[in-house]
Amino acid sequence: MDPGDLPPFGHFIDGTFRPGSSGHARDIINPSDGEPFARAVEGTAEDVNLAVTAALAAKRSWSAKTPKERSEVLHRIADRVEEHAERIARLESANTGKPLLVSRDDVEQVVDAFRFMAGATRALTQAPAGEYVDQHLSVMVREPLGVIGVITPWNYPLLMAVWKIAPILAAGNTCVLKPSEQTPLTTLKLVECCADLLPDGVLNIVTGDGPVVGQRLADHPRIDMVALTGSVAAGRAIARTAATTLKRVHLELGGKAPVLVFPDADLAGAAAALRTAGFWNSGQECGAACRVLVHESVAADFTAHLVREAATLVVGDPGAGEDVEIGPLVSRAHFERVSRHLENARAEGVSTALGGTPDDGRGYFVPPTVLADVPQGAECTREEIFGPVVTVETFADEEEAVSRANDTPYGLSASVWTDDARRGLTLPGRLDFGTVWVNNHLVLASELPWSGFKSSGYGRDLSVYALDDFSRTKHVMHHRGG
Ligand code: NAD
Repeated sequence: MDPGDLPPFGHFIDGTFRPGSSGHARDIINPSDGEPFARAVEGTAEDVNLAVTAALAAKRSWSAKTPKERSEVLHRIADRVEEHAERIARLESANTGKPLLVSRDDVEQVVDAFRFMAGATRALTQAPAGEYVDQHLSVMVREPLGVIGVITPWNYPLLMAVWKIAPILAAGNTCVLKPSEQTPLTTLKLVECCADLLPDGVLNIVTGDGPVVGQRLADHPRIDMVALTGSVAAGRAIARTAATTLKRVHLELGGKAPVLVFPDADLAGAAAALRTAGFWNSGQECGAACRVLVHESVAADFTAHLVREAATLVVGDPGAGEDVEIGPLVSRAHFERVSRHLENARAEGVSTALGGTPDDGRGYFVPPTVLADVPQGAECTREEIFGPVVTVETFADEEEAVSRANDTPYGLSASVWTDDARRGLTLPGRLDFGTVWVNNHLVLASELPWSGFKSSGYGRDLSVYALDDFSRTKHVMHHRGG
């Protein structure tokens, strides 16, 4: 990649890039070849304090802007991102190993998230007013929370950042965001591109480690809410820390989506859809269709379709061509983790219908893998593998399918595949997941909420619900007197 497309080195605080107080930086690695190609500052608690001071100073004037004024800023940011879309997508691919088609899709969704929130915040501001007590007029006022700390993961670095930034700013808050220490570049690029559009201090980025920078965001007394997209373990740590100041917590955590395939489903169609939904972003996707539960009468047929589909996925270096669909995993550590899961599956007697052997050469490549005849309770069906791996288990009847699907601590998303209208209508109500698709999987829209149940967290991204999560409601009661 052209070094001129890298963002400036430093944190982005109060409208300018700064080197930070630690004097330390970390290498940023290209997962296609394992080589460093950029550096990012190791932030400190002191750097977070500075960013919070800037966000506090910016809070009053940003929150005092009308929804129309904030909306116009968000629209201009969307336009600017669109202008730089291809460069941002290529930078995301270099840092994460995503195929270009995935990075380009991410950037399109980033633009849409800004535009949606720009419109939604204007539509939402009419608050109800009325007389509920004699001689008293009540007015409900929607207010921003204040300063929001945001912590994002490596699998969709820019998209997950913008799913928070867009509603947070639209609702009138200011923000201090820590990107994943592994993938900070596109978040920094975003603020570089848009620095002239936002008042200083409204959006600040501090790079660095979770237990240092993330921890300070969670315990800082002047931060009003901390929002994380990440693992369940990080969610627990952050919620515990946030409890000391009783700040609000917004969590979008892991997932292990069950995919229920019934004998009356279009098996070939389901397998073709899972080619994308199971393997998108190399399976490094919290909503990935990674755990198939198929009726025993059609299991062999369905598995054959799925293997045929997944075998056609094009694996390669994202820079190698437009047709690449599966890139490397994000890091050596994650590659080793996924490899360990595959070894454990073999040790548990799981059979490999496709792939299964990580490529221990240059880069962190794992081929599309289908694990078949998976026994109930096997580790690969319980834990997030977060790689291009789909497991296939069987069930005997609907009751068993529902109870096995729900038998997981995760509750992010699930899908049901059936041509039976009754089943399609009733099963979503029995599944304990924040999103349930019928005859599709992994289809999202800015208008619709994305949020988990159970250990998948309790924050809502996208939709007007996100604006609601990043706002507070005040009741003002006027005594009419007289
Ligand atoms: P992670 O939890 O390791 O890291 C996420 C972020 O949290 C990083 O910025 C990290 O530095 C920070 N962090 C880690 N420990 C922390 C601590 N103790 N205190 C404060 N901050 C801390 O997750 P990851 O490996 O980057 O991302 C993958 C995970 O994210 C998966 O579990 C995936 O399912 C989840 N995810 C969920 C969604 C969703 O919408 N629900 C979307 C994308 C990813």
